Amino acid sequence: GAADPRLVAAIRAAAERLIGEEERLTELDRAVGDGDLGANLARGARAVLAELGTYENRSAAAVLRALSATLRRTVGGTSGALYAAGLLRAAGALEGKAAPGAGDWAGALAAGAGAIATLGDAKIGDRTMLDALLPAAERLGGAAPGDLAAAVSAARDGAARSADIAPRRGRSSYLGERVLGLPDPGAEAVAAWLAAIAAALR
Ligand code: ADP
Ligand code: MG
Ligand code: MG
Repeated sequence: GAADPRLVAAIRAAAERLIGEEERLTELDRAVGDGDLGANLARGARAVLAELGTYENRSAAAVLRALSATLRRTVGGTSGALYAAGLLRAAGALEGKAAPGAGDWAGALAAGAGAIATLGDAKIGDRTMLDALLPAAERLGGAAPGDLAAAVSAARDGAARSADIAPRRGRSSYLGERVLGLPDPGAEAVAAWLAAIAAALR
C-alpha cells in the first residue's frame, strides 16, 4: 500500500530539524564526546531527504526499512548502528499493517527503543539517547496512545535530566564527571526530531 502522506511529512520534518540542529549537536558532542554527532545525523538526514520521493508508494514498514538502510549507510558512528537497528525493529512491528494507527505507532516506537537498548546494552539513567527515547515511547503508548505532545515533553525532560548523570556508556564515559551539567547529545537529538514530527503532524 502507499505510504500515508503524513508519514512522509513527518520524516521530512525530522530530517530538516536534524539539519537545522547540526551545529548545536556538534558543539555538544564536541564537549562531551568526539564532536561528530551533528555532522553524522545531518548527513543521514540529507540522504533521507534526497530519497523521500521513493517512499511515497511504500507501506509504513517498507518506509522504515528503507530509512534503516539509508541511516546505516550514511550516519556512521554509534548513532548510525543504533538508529538502523531501532528502525528495523520498528519496521518489523508494523509489518502487515496497511494503515497503522496511533497504538501501532506507539508499539513501533517502543519496539525500536527496545532494540536500541538491547544493542547498546543500555537503560534509562545511562546518559544515552535512551534517556529521551524510552520515556517518550512509554508516554506515546500510555493512557492516550498517540499523544505526541506528551511524548515530546517526556523526551525533553529525559534529555534535560541526562545533564545530571555521570556517563557509563559510549564515549562520554571516558570523560567521566567532566560532562556533568551538559545534556547527552544523542538524547537532545531524539527530543529535537520528535518535536519536529509532533509539529508536522499537529
Ligand atoms: P560516537 O561518535 O561515539 O561513535 P555518535 O556521536 O554517533 O557516537 O553518537 C553519540 C550518542 O550515541 C551519545 O550521545 C548517546 O546518546 C548514544 N549512545 C552512545 N552509546 C550508546 C549505547 N551504548 N546505547 C545507547 N545509546 C548510546
Ligand atoms: Mg560522536
Ligand atoms: Mg564518532
